[in-house]
Amino acid sequence: MFIDGQWIQAKDKKTFSVINPANGDVIGMIPDGGEAEAKMAVTAADKAFPLWSSRTAYQRSAFLYQAHTLMMENLEHLAGTMTQEQGKPIQAARNEVKYGADFLLWFAEEAKRIYGKTIPSSRADQRFMVIKQPVGVVAAITPWNYPMSMITRKVAPALAAGCTIVLKPAEATPLCAIEIFKLLEKAGLPKGVANLVTGLDPEPVGKVFMTDKRIAKLTFTGSTAIGKMLARGAAGQMKRVSLELGGHAPFIVCKDADPVHAAKGLSLVKFLNTGQACISPNRIYVHSTMKEAFLKVLTEKVAQMTAGNGMSPGVKIGPLVNAAAIEKVDSQVKDAIKKGATLVSGGFRIMDNEMDKGYFYAPTILDGVTEEMRIYREETFGPVLPVISYENEDDLLKMANDTDYGLAAYVYTKAHSTAMKFFEGLHFGIIGINDINPTSAAAPFGGMKMSGIGREGACEGIDEYLETKLGGFSLNG
Ligand code: NAP
Repeated sequence: MFIDGQWIQAKDKKTFSVINPANGDVIGMIPDGGEAEAKMAVTAADKAFPLWSSRTAYQRSAFLYQAHTLMMENLEHLAGTMTQEQGKPIQAARNEVKYGADFLLWFAEEAKRIYGKTIPSSRADQRFMVIKQPVGVVAAITPWNYPMSMITRKVAPALAAGCTIVLKPAEATPLCAIEIFKLLEKAGLPKGVANLVTGLDPEPVGKVFMTDKRIAKLTFTGSTAIGKMLARGAAGQMKRVSLELGGHAPFIVCKDADPVHAAKGLSLVKFLNTGQACISPNRIYVHSTMKEAFLKVLTEKVAQMTAGNGMSPGVKIGPLVNAAAIEKVDSQVKDAIKKGATLVSGGFRIMDNEMDKGYFYAPTILDGVTEEMRIYREETFGPVLPVISYENEDDLLKMANDTDYGLAAYVYTKAHSTAMKFFEGLHFGIIGINDINPTSAAAPFGGMKMSGIGREGACEGIDEYLETKLGGFSLNG
């Protein structure tokens, strides 16, 4: 753990093991911290806040530029660590390292654009001035599926704004977090400004984050269930919260779309990170007249996808995170088949070529998915494509919006008017129109409804770490 500028063990020297999900190998022993370490980290962040927040925006920016440079210089090493710890194919890991580094660069720039404003007053003797100030100490919790970029997406804006931070990464991917913190240290991070608490049991750390009065803000990326629990806990002290939660993205192929182009796009986005992405398409609406052509291309694409250890060349499908993930995916597939869906391909755990030692599930296509099936509403977080035929495009918007989630949605159409109808009518925070990658450090990422509160990245991302303060100045003083 990295607390107050020191690398430390847990108080009682307890550790937990980290497993490579591709082969079950133990690849690290990590300090098993809890309440005591979380409190120490908050104390360090609280102590460092006056110093860090009084640094000029240019000084904070220079630090983030340096961290960005180091992250890019260490790209191969970081990507290798990620593939071994999280499982994604090495090229996808490289892409994530670049995406993660982008946040350091973006917020190095945004640090210098924390603007206030003046507002005209109706009184001749009065002036209004608005300034932005850092909220204070931030507590952050991140997931395992994007184990580096989800960290920089929070740490970079927090530090740019002048906040100090305590981070708890997912128990499955602490090595990635440690590598990022080593680089922050190397970039010249002052003592206590960013602190890392690792642990097997998230509850005691989460409790400190919800209840310690010194923490001004809680930022979380993970499941909706845990996000709701944390928001409820943080409400006791009215802490600021940002929540990036689960999703259930519709992927709409309109009647006028090119089914080949759409199927190619879908095969690329769905199997990214083996479907373990919050913006992964989870309900595929295809017009009945083009379903055959669409499924043909999709099936061909899926057949070309090699599963295996992400370090091996050519591998496109890495392992799922653990045995529970395999179980969840498989039970959704079985439930759908039982209720009438047709299995087009996949539908089983891969056990050959030594994959039985890891957690591999075959890329799967289900046709004839209906509302009654669990997969129609539950986030899958696995390599399964549930295809739903439709006849009437007028019903599509309603069907796609009929979910508690509201993170990402995708639409394929050739008509500008249809694109605009869906862009404006879909209740989701991110809409890809004929586009499968509507994300960037420069663009606001976040969801509506049960998918969360707040936005990360873009100019909105830094606002989440700033308070707005109004000054009313009388000239008669
Ligand atoms: P999760 O179980 O909610 O875990 C996320 C983080 O919360 C982990 O660090 C976890 O620690 C921690 N946590 C769990 N229980 C906690 C508690 N009682 N108190 C404090 N912290 C607690 O989610 P996950 O399975 O790791 O991640 C997948 C979910 O994240 C999916 O729903 C996905 O859609 C969502 N996600 C959303 C975004 C987005 O930007 N919207 C991005 C990526 C992922 P442990 O690991 O130690 O359990």
